[in-house]
Amino acid sequence: MRVNVIGGGPAGLYFALLLKKHDPRHEVTVYERNPPDATFGWGVVFSGRTLKALREADEESHHALAESFETWENVEVVLRDARVTVRGNHFSGVARIRLLNILQERCAALGVRLRFRSEAADVGALAADCDLLVGADGVGSLVRQHYAEEFGPELSEGRNKYIWYGTRQPFRGLTLTFRETQAGVFAAHSYKFSRDTSTFIVECDHAAWEREGFASMSDAETRARLGEVFREDLGGHELLSNNSRWINFLLVRNRRWSAGNAVLLGDALHTAHFSIGSGTKLAMEDSIALFRLFAEGRDVPSALAEFERTRRPVIEEYQQAAHESRLWFERARDYTHLDPVRFAYSLMTRSKRVTDESLRRRDPDFVAAYEKAAAPGR
Ligand SMILES: Cc1cc2nc3c(=O)[nH]c(=O)nc-3n(C[C@H](O)[C@H](O)[C@H](O)COP(=O)(O)OP(=O)(O)OC[C@H]3O[C@@H](n4cnc5c(N)ncnc54)[C@H](O)[C@@H]3O)c2cc1C
Repeated sequence: MRVNVIGGGPAGLYFALLLKKHDPRHEVTVYERNPPDATFGWGVVFSGRTLKALREADEESHHALAESFETWENVEVVLRDARVTVRGNHFSGVARIRLLNILQERCAALGVRLRFRSEAADVGALAADCDLLVGADGVGSLVRQHYAEEFGPELSEGRNKYIWYGTRQPFRGLTLTFRETQAGVFAAHSYKFSRDTSTFIVECDHAAWEREGFASMSDAETRARLGEVFREDLGGHELLSNNSRWINFLLVRNRRWSAGNAVLLGDALHTAHFSIGSGTKLAMEDSIALFRLFAEGRDVPSALAEFERTRRPVIEEYQQAAHESRLWFERARDYTHLDPVRFAYSLMTRSKRVTDESLRRRDPDFVAAYEKAAAPGR
């Protein structure tokens, strides 16, 4: 089979390597506009369950990733100056660039043709030149736009503003910090993903963002102001920028998942709010799901139809959980009056996927503290 993949992010690279590994006769080419060492952002996280799926799909890349992981099992919730720890949440963090380098090396070793610095502009020509065209070109996907009538994309924006920074402050565990200024509530999502760097994503509602005057601030001014807001949390470390800018979360859905011989994977196909940390996981699991159908010996039309039939319900469930989570962060100011333990409980159960029961299994002491806080007279 001749396969053209547009986009050398986690989805495109992982699909290319799995397919080529399964059958080296496939001719697989990945077109990536950036050089191999360029990336946006900082770290990404994976749950224990995702890692198992990655290990089963490709032991070699999993092994290389495992050597780079920062792992933790605690969520730290900081409300004003109180800190609540919730245990039993197993996650691993890795630098996005490290993940990409591992996948690139694996692709190269297996004989995938990697075309870096190649902007794919003529989608129709690339589709005509292959048996399967994979649009793994991220949230602003050109492939999705090219076949907009067939895919029927549905795009909508979240209400909060957010910005993705790094910092040298080592946040051990997923740390969710809430600080209030005169302007409103600011939430930071932070975790350590390498020996010396943590991700630090800040979000706030539009009114707080406007009142603080971020629209007219330079990058340096924005970092300085947010450094003040989170002074107690950053331990004297500055915020590090990587083309960081304020944006609104973009929700992507598609009414159909394929168009002729073209299929979308990862963020091009669907997004899920970053507060449930599953964008990269979903992208790579898409790749596994589609690859398996070809490994079963299906032809392109049958594999693409089955991919949508079996994978769509999984994605919709995640998108629903991510939606609930996003709404919680958009309404964070309605919860900050709660005492820290009740606040942390509300936060932990926001997506409705973590239930009282599952939380009790993870950290019975935390649930006991919550029950005491929720019914102090009992
Ligand atoms: C603030 C924030 C925090 C996040 N945190 C996490 C997290 O903690 N954990 C997690 O798992 N995920 C996280 N994500 C999500 C994650 O970044 C994405 O979901 C993931 O990268 C999707 O992978 P992908 O391969 O589909 O797309 P991308 O990673 O976006 O890759 C697409 C690639 O296609 C290339 N490309 C695009 N158009 C063209 C073209 N025309 N020609 C050639 N190349 C092209 C791009 O250069 C890019 O390399 C976060 C996202 C945001 C915004």
